[in-house]
Amino acid sequence: MPTWFNARHWRKLVAAAGALVLIVACGNWAERRELQFKMDALRQAAAAHALGLRGLVEKHDFLPHAAARHPDVRDLLRAPMDAALKARVDDYFADLQATTGAAVLYLVDRSGLTLAASNWNLPSSFVGQSYRRRPYVEDALQGRRGYFYGLGLTTGQSGLFIAEPVRADGAVLGVVVVKISLEPLQAAWMRGGDPVVLRDSRGIVFLSAVPEWLFHGIRPLAANDARWIADHGQYGSRARFDVLPWRTEAHGRPGMDLPGFVLHTDVRGRRVDLLALDTPLPELGWTLTVTTDMKEVVQARRAALALTALAVALLLLGVLYWRLRDKRFAEQRAARLELERRVEERTRDLQEAHAFRKAMEDSLLVGMRARDPDGKIIYVNPALCAMVGYSAEELLGRRPPYPYWHPDDLEKQARESDEALQGRAAPHGFESRVRHKDGHDVITMVYAAPLVDAQGVHRGWMSSVVDITAQKQAEARQREQELRLQRSARLASVGEMASTLAHELNQPLMALSNFAVAARALAGTAAGGSAEAPAGTMLAGALDDIVGQSRRASEIVKRVRAFINPQRAQYERLAMDGVVAHAATLLKPELQRHGVTLRLLMEDGGALVRGDRVLLEQVLANLVHNALQAMQPTQDQPHPPPAQRSIELACQRAEQGLRVTVADRGPGIPREQLEQVFAPFFTTKPDGLGLGLNICRTIIEAHGGFMTVENRSGGGAAFSFTLPTVP
Ligand code: ADP
Repeated sequence: MPTWFNARHWRKLVAAAGALVLIVACGNWAERRELQFKMDALRQAAAAHALGLRGLVEKHDFLPHAAARHPDVRDLLRAPMDAALKARVDDYFADLQATTGAAVLYLVDRSGLTLAASNWNLPSSFVGQSYRRRPYVEDALQGRRGYFYGLGLTTGQSGLFIAEPVRADGAVLGVVVVKISLEPLQAAWMRGGDPVVLRDSRGIVFLSAVPEWLFHGIRPLAANDARWIADHGQYGSRARFDVLPWRTEAHGRPGMDLPGFVLHTDVRGRRVDLLALDTPLPELGWTLTVTTDMKEVVQARRAALALTALAVALLLLGVLYWRLRDKRFAEQRAARLELERRVEERTRDLQEAHAFRKAMEDSLLVGMRARDPDGKIIYVNPALCAMVGYSAEELLGRRPPYPYWHPDDLEKQARESDEALQGRAAPHGFESRVRHKDGHDVITMVYAAPLVDAQGVHRGWMSSVVDITAQKQAEARQREQELRLQRSARLASVGEMASTLAHELNQPLMALSNFAVAARALAGTAAGGSAEAPAGTMLAGALDDIVGQSRRASEIVKRVRAFINPQRAQYERLAMDGVVAHAATLLKPELQRHGVTLRLLMEDGGALVRGDRVLLEQVLANLVHNALQAMQPTQDQPHPPPAQRSIELACQRAEQGLRVTVADRGPGIPREQLEQVFAPFFTTKPDGLGLGLNICRTIIEAHGGFMTVENRSGGGAAFSFTLPTVP
């Protein structure tokens, strides 16, 4: 058995064999059924034919019996030469023949000579003929009824001869014979479809629907039989009796108890298979064979085979279809299960990935915020919510301005937001101050990046936000400390220097003052009654100014010393507008000299600071002085327009206190020098000392304030100092 031949092949083989058996069984069944029908029909046909035959014989059977008992018949046998009697018997026979339809009736004497006949008047008349050697005559002469089928010796026409002995006083005088023609029967058979055959006791066919079978035997004729036939002239002069061209066989259907046999032969040149049934007619010594064509049986078998094969094929197709359908269902089911498994796997992966991502996002300290291209917030992580104090629900779907934007930076935030949404955010991030929901400020660093989905479509912007408040506070503290250190250092150095200067200048200033007072006294005495009184008066005025200014100078020195030694500084609650107004008065002559206007912008609302009036005036004077110097006409612009000949002195409230700004329209300060200008001894002027701004900042810081500088947008510099206000 080859290895590829497995159980499946076995099953197929068994199914094929089963189908074959079924087809054959159906064919057989149909064949047997048809055979049975045929055989039944054949039996009926045989019965009908036998009945017809017997009827025909019986119909004429009484004729010789009746005729043999007719007195004229007997008398004629006794007196054969009686012509009148013969004529009566002839008429009697002719009358009987005409009435009954028999072929011929005739009377034979003991020597076999015919005395009278129904056909006495025909050329073929039997009268005078001798029938001594005819078997039926022999039988009748021996007192038996004789039956014989054979050809007429006179007419040569076949017929059934029935002979009846004519008795008188126990002796047989002669024989009455009636001949019946079976030709009408044969003609009727020939008209019928299926061959019918009648054969004698020797098996010679003498009546047949198929003419070529006539006078053929079913078996070879025995020699004595042949002789007997010849002797008795049963079939005329015919001496040869060939065997019928029949091949017979049993119908061979096992389990079928059927009479008859199958007959293979040729009928009118056509090969036929016939189902045949023999019916013996013992009283006549004959056998009747009726047949019917087997064609229908074969056809029934074929039709059944074809139908069963078709049914099996349909069944197979059905089975095939169902199996294919089942297979397809199974495949579909498997595919669906596989899909479900994959979806489940994928879902699990996604859930895991999602859970992992969520855990990651939740554990992130960096705030994450996604926005669509219109600025609508589409995602925030817990870190961002914690940073700004708003829940995700409060933030999702919001558009600018967002609730956490710092109220003081709304404009800046809007600008930065627009820039981020246009993809122009600073690549290294930008600082942004936000307002926590509970009101405290949070300083953040924001990094924006485009949000691109898996398909590569730009969906918006992603921002990571880092809380740098603590860092900023640390930096501020650091800066504060540094500033404090710098200030202490500055105070130390400036203090030293100022102390030396004060010490050195005090004596000369005092002397100058004293000399001026003395000169004033002298000038007053000399001018008394003098003609040059006006000149004296001017001198006195000038000397008064000298006295005044030297006193002021010594006062400054004193104050510087006091500043260095804080106990000596005269701190008081001051209205800044008063300080500004006084400083403006002092500066007025100098401003006029330079053709520069001073515009005051007092918006402080009378705020009070704590400080030393003279020192603060000094700071203002210094700043205005520097501004004036910066606005000196240059070679490039010898006559600057009036708009550039103006200094603004503004006094405003600010977050950390009161801010005073001195702004000019000079060239401004180069960016890299913005921090340096406060350094001691930094100067760009040929005769400058570079101490003015340093001292100013020191004075302001000594007052608890701070000082800044920036360039103005339309050109020029703006120096500001901010002092804490007091109630
Ligand atoms: P000095 O006036 O002796 O140079 P300062 O300390 O007052 O010393 O000024 C330092 C430097 O700051 C100046 O040399 C100048 O370069 C610059 N500066 C000060 N004020 C102004 C101003 N208003 N515009 C432009 N530069 C200024």
